[in-house]
Amino acid sequence: MKYISTRGGMQAQGFSDILLEGLAPDGGLAMPERIPQVSAAQLESWRALPYHALAAEVLGLFITDIDAHQLKAFTKESYRAEAFQSKDIVSFRPLYDGLSLLGVSEGPTLAFKDMAMQFLGQVFPFVLRARGATLNILGATSGDTGSAAEYAMRGKDALAVFMLSPYGRMSAFQRAQMYSLQDANIHNLAVKGVFDEAQDIVKALAGDLEFKNKYHLGAVNSINWGRIAAQVVYYVYGWLRATSGPGQQVSFSVPSGNFGNILAGHIARSMGVPIRRLVLATNENNVLDEFFRTGIYRPRSAAQTFLTSSPSMDISRASNFERFVFELVSRDATRVAQLWRELSANGYFDLSAYLPEFTERYGFVSGTSTHQDRLATIRQVMTRTGLLIDPHTADGVKVAAPFVEEGVPMLILETALPAKFSEVIQEALGYPAPLPPGLENLESLPQKVTVLPCDVASVRAYITEHASL
Ligand SMILES: *Cc1c(COP(=O)(O)O)cnc(C)c1O
Repeated sequence: MKYISTRGGMQAQGFSDILLEGLAPDGGLAMPERIPQVSAAQLESWRALPYHALAAEVLGLFITDIDAHQLKAFTKESYRAEAFQSKDIVSFRPLYDGLSLLGVSEGPTLAFKDMAMQFLGQVFPFVLRARGATLNILGATSGDTGSAAEYAMRGKDALAVFMLSPYGRMSAFQRAQMYSLQDANIHNLAVKGVFDEAQDIVKALAGDLEFKNKYHLGAVNSINWGRIAAQVVYYVYGWLRATSGPGQQVSFSVPSGNFGNILAGHIARSMGVPIRRLVLATNENNVLDEFFRTGIYRPRSAAQTFLTSSPSMDISRASNFERFVFELVSRDATRVAQLWRELSANGYFDLSAYLPEFTERYGFVSGTSTHQDRLATIRQVMTRTGLLIDPHTADGVKVAAPFVEEGVPMLILETALPAKFSEVIQEALGYPAPLPPGLENLESLPQKVTVLPCDVASVRAYITEHASL
């Protein structure tokens, strides 16, 4: 399997080559040359597999330059019962009215980002070792990516993590989770801006090829193809759990920000997994909902990005969205490059000509959830089932409801556990979310973080001084 760029300016490369890069050299994103296909019979043959074995099968379709036995060892190490609180790794719990929760946030940092990052924590050191290389991972996080990356990479040889986070815009628990890591190879940089500005700094530094090469910069943020591939696995797993035989359809509702999670759903659907609807749920930062309703993509500025109670979705420029647009325009890379030129010139582009295809051909529908919706949904799910859900998952439940169809299970991706966002639980229910065992004292541990102004020069100076070479 080879990978090409959404903007057409990259020689086809193997998985191990694109794994360590951020953006492609032409500013585009890596995509598999073709989407691998899975037959109904093959899906059935996977029914009894434990999660790690299913992961090896699915990832093997995307990763053909790493030996299959090696891949099996990696997925076994990545998806261990001890790291995920249960031997199932991903839980499946019915709620009501055809809705179920697919629990993909039971890893070490209590959010779905662990599903992919634990795998990268195995495959990155392997690829680096094979090349005798070093990597300084540079990323921006609105909370959950950063901690998942740091927990996956802490203490690993030949690797350092430089993680930018928006100063003052994460929950106390999220901050404690990241900043309490004392490992020498983990660098927490809190910049005084919003997530999109932090992301722009990362893009600027990764786009400075001389700097990028000199300091061996790489990425693990949601544009990393290895993450998308690893996320495809739980869509297959969710389909297998919710069905009993070939051809049965399932819909997924996905609390969305950077479009990474739901893109993996789109890939699974394109591979032949019988997925009916992909419900894209946004919060008040509803640029993507607007796109799927109107065909116009109009990202907002940092100043127009609301600080909400589902903060991991406070994103107004979805970096993975370009991969879907690439598919939408039938993989016409020239067109994609043109659209992104229009975007920077005009602040928007218009794909309303494709509007009927969004649902008919690709299964996408969308909706927006508000703060009041989140509170009401958390209360409703508690009242009807006794289960406590986090505010992002609540967005997924709220937006999914009108799209439930008779006989088609609707699986809501539980993207985080409530303990991460206890302030919102307190507001909704009048009491805080219980802390998982072992994490009761997290917020009182000493924290290691450097506060920086929100500009490229400051971050560049920090990396110059601290990068491992
Ligand atoms: C990252 C994240 C999201 C958004 O996922 P994308 O892949 O960026 O669309 C939603 N919920 C939680 C809890 C997250 O951490």
